[in-house]
Amino acid sequence: MTAYEKICAYDRETRALGAIAGRLSWDQETQMPRGAAAQRGEEMAAIEAVLHARKSAPELGDLLAQSDAASLDEVGQARLREIRRSYDRAVKVPTELASALARATSLGHGIWAEARANEDFPAFAPTLEEIVGLTQDLASALADGGDPYDALLQDYEPGTTGAEITEMFDALRPRLVALAERVKGAPTPPALSGSFDETAQLALSREMAEAFGYDFTRGRIDLTVHPFCSGHGADVRITTRTDPTDPFGCLYSTVHEVGHACYEQGVDDAYALTALGQGVSMGVHESQSRIYENQLGRSRAFVGHLFTRMQHHFGALSAGDADALYAAVNRVVPGYIRTEADEVHYNLHIMMRFDLERALIAGDLSVADLPEAWNARFVSDFSTEVDRPSNGVLQDVHWSAGLFGYFPTYTLGNVYAGCLYQALRTAQPRLDTDLARGDTSGATGWLRETLQRFGALRPPRETIQHATGQAPSVQPLLEYLEAKFGALYGF
Ligand code: ZN
Repeated sequence: MTAYEKICAYDRETRALGAIAGRLSWDQETQMPRGAAAQRGEEMAAIEAVLHARKSAPELGDLLAQSDAASLDEVGQARLREIRRSYDRAVKVPTELASALARATSLGHGIWAEARANEDFPAFAPTLEEIVGLTQDLASALADGGDPYDALLQDYEPGTTGAEITEMFDALRPRLVALAERVKGAPTPPALSGSFDETAQLALSREMAEAFGYDFTRGRIDLTVHPFCSGHGADVRITTRTDPTDPFGCLYSTVHEVGHACYEQGVDDAYALTALGQGVSMGVHESQSRIYENQLGRSRAFVGHLFTRMQHHFGALSAGDADALYAAVNRVVPGYIRTEADEVHYNLHIMMRFDLERALIAGDLSVADLPEAWNARFVSDFSTEVDRPSNGVLQDVHWSAGLFGYFPTYTLGNVYAGCLYQALRTAQPRLDTDLARGDTSGATGWLRETLQRFGALRPPRETIQHATGQAPSVQPLLEYLEAKFGALYGF
């Protein structure tokens, strides 16, 4: 066996163990009895210690030093690049820090959820302080004297920096704020009203998952408060939620998670349990969920099909025709909750989280001052006072999970989705005709062929460039949003 072959065999076993850790997390959020939280924290810390030891093992370092990338093909070189990146990261992190973070974030989830349910930020503050402290230690270990936040970003969006993210936000912000202002001046269309049987919501969401290409023989849907997607290759699971008065929460959360899942299911089978066998970054991942959810799922063409399917499942709707449903699905209303935000306001929610978490990691903002900083920023960006912590600083799970540097990938995903949609429309002139029949196979097939099947073969920006033929830019997203909402709101 060559050094490269030994590395690949070793890496495959590490990834299989990583998949087991991932399934423990899935179980924690979907099935685990509440009383098991402390024990699960120990289990997660133990498996994290094993994974960390494997990823940073001196034998792996020796093999990497012996391996010769020049003798490998494109796939081999990409695998080696990803394994080397993981090794270089792992050796910088002390094992005790890796398992302390795993334990703190596993316990943190339950404490955050309870604090959120009780509107009690002080109950979560000591846990968040511990997590921020450990994440600061992690960031400085990874940064090697460089910028700590940039070092954290590499876990979610390899190759990007806080400065690049700032530049992207600076290019988006003025036109998004202007668009929000113009929409505010126009009459708001009515929301969909009524009550919607939750079994019917789940039946319709399964139907939509299938329509968008989710393979149930290699996946399943469960219920959680916060929908998510978990797993790779032959086992990619999603979750959704229902609300009796708002069927869109269930339907569009499902389509969103299906976008993530189809990316994972769409990766070339030959890459399974290898360094290339998953989405390349969270930004590219989010581009798939967003284009499924928004550019395709919330398009006028697809909503025409959805209108008939909703009538079938729920009976007559308060929206009298497909145009009224389209307006209701794309209603622009500034609200507290990021996950419920419309396409116009969504990225403004991300910008404030980016600034706040960067200040937390830099030590410029303390956890004790966080609620006040959040509320002040929300007033300045949304002209509304936050009424309670669950509508403000306690709404998102990310910080309790130690996910600092993750938020900006949501906006990157929106930007990438804009680029992909522009290229897709050029490649598929019949797109709207197909979507109007509920047929997404042309669009999802194009995404699979140009992007999903390559997994982590190319770095994130190159992945988008390969699919679209152009370097990513904010222009297509802005043009799409201005055209769509200008038409909907009559300006
Ligand atoms: Zn997502």
